[in-house]
Amino acid sequence: MLAIDGRLGEGGGQILRSALALSAITGTPVRLEHIRAGRPKPGLQRQHLASVRAAARVCGAEITGDELGSRELTFIPHGLCPGEHHIDIGSAGSASLVLQTVIPPLLRAGAPSRVVVDGGTHNPLAPPFEFLRDTFCPVLARIGATVTVSLERHGFYPAGGGRLVAEIQPLVEPWPLELMERGRPTSRRAVATIAHLPAHVASREAQTLKHALKWSHRECDEVEIHACDGPGNIVTVTMAYQHITETVSAVGAMRVPAEEVALRAAKEAQRYLDSDVPVGEHLADQLLLPLAIARGGRFRTGAPSLHATTNAQVISAFLGERIAMSERADGDWLIEVMPNGGTEQTPTG
Ligand code: ATP
Repeated sequence: MLAIDGRLGEGGGQILRSALALSAITGTPVRLEHIRAGRPKPGLQRQHLASVRAAARVCGAEITGDELGSRELTFIPHGLCPGEHHIDIGSAGSASLVLQTVIPPLLRAGAPSRVVVDGGTHNPLAPPFEFLRDTFCPVLARIGATVTVSLERHGFYPAGGGRLVAEIQPLVEPWPLELMERGRPTSRRAVATIAHLPAHVASREAQTLKHALKWSHRECDEVEIHACDGPGNIVTVTMAYQHITETVSAVGAMRVPAEEVALRAAKEAQRYLDSDVPVGEHLADQLLLPLAIARGGRFRTGAPSLHATTNAQVISAFLGERIAMSERADGDWLIEVMPNGGTEQTPTG
């Protein structure tokens, strides 16, 4: 049984999700120790527990230690199970992080899948739905992976109650990724979304975005969501180019002025606009695993985050050293992922 130490690098939930996905794909039983040791509240929180159970569902795994607060877990996979899966996080925990756990194994399964996840759809420190739809899935499509996500209902922290649906086709003939340039800009849009909050929150955010980014009124929208539980607010900035679309975001919180939320998103967007690498920080850490289980590839990005380097360590524990990161110039890094040598399970289903 492979042991993965949750104290590695960044010491958070990403180690768990990547290890579960890789265990399901390779059929390697795994013991996770010191889960989320680097976090103030270590161990499995509800959202991580949902990822554990979801991963177990998609590969018929036997699990021990799957309890709230647990810091140790064993996971013994028994073959990939594509098809219909419904996962209810039972809180506002991030539905996209549950999808992050199950999409890679289901890409390697022998039949299509449809996964419905109930929980949070727009959470702090997690990919919002728009990032999955506009940034992550289109890059998967460039390696031959067809994953379609839809938002059935918004779910904001802390009320939750949202629903994401992902349809995943098996990855039959993967291609290597080559993502070295953005290409020419094609469109851009900033959106301030509110639910059950006064309309001035969205208008102050749109106004701030317009000034900070020097974009036109038409490019900075306000959207109000009625069909969801509880209040919520998110600002997303989408920058589309020929070869890549980047989505940055900031989630509103109690006692944080609307202007500050908008400025956080605008500053991140400006950092992306000022650099010329195609792959942003979050996409870089989320791409490593899908590439490592397919035909690999290479892309340019900024300095790799601790998330990315930790993810690379988890991947190498399962698949051997296969990720090289080299600095070409200040803030311009080349990430190369070697193709998978065929360690995945025989597809079932
Ligand atoms: P923990 O509570 O242990 O920090 P976690 O399960 O919430 O863990 P992290 O280990 O912090 O998760 O990983 C968060 C994931 O969400 C990473 O893949 C990161 O790239 C992604 N992420 C965070 N913020 C954004 C964002 N604004 N846009 C897209 N992806 C994001």
